[in-house]
Amino acid sequence: MLAPMKKISRRELLRRSATFGAAGIGLVVLGGSSGCGGEEEGPNCNDTSGLTPQQQSTRSSLGYVAQSPHGAQKNCANCNFYTAGGANQCGSCTLVPGKIDPNAYCNSWAAKA
Ligand code: SF4
Repeated sequence: MLAPMKKISRRELLRRSATFGAAGIGLVVLGGSSGCGGEEEGPNCNDTSGLTPQQQSTRSSLGYVAQSPHGAQKNCANCNFYTAGGANQCGSCTLVPGKIDPNAYCNSWAAKA
């Protein structure tokens, strides 16, 4: 046998709708900010803390910059000395020590053979 339905006033119905509606909006907002982790960030290839002073010196003496001034025409991704990393990872270079951003550049850039 079904339980008898309790009659609620129109005012009570509106109050409950407002309460649950606000809770629902809160869940959507929380879900939107935590569910997808916010804005995607790429890997930090500028962290040179693991490099020796000599390696850091080599990096700067070759003019390594995190963002190529030549854009996509000349960057590490299309340089002969670059080896790509995995998905969303930094690459490496045979000349410049440390993590290499595919969008970076240095004075030793050479077109991929
Ligand atoms: S040589 Fe320079 S431009 Fe080429 S991959 Fe290495 S750091 Fe990038």
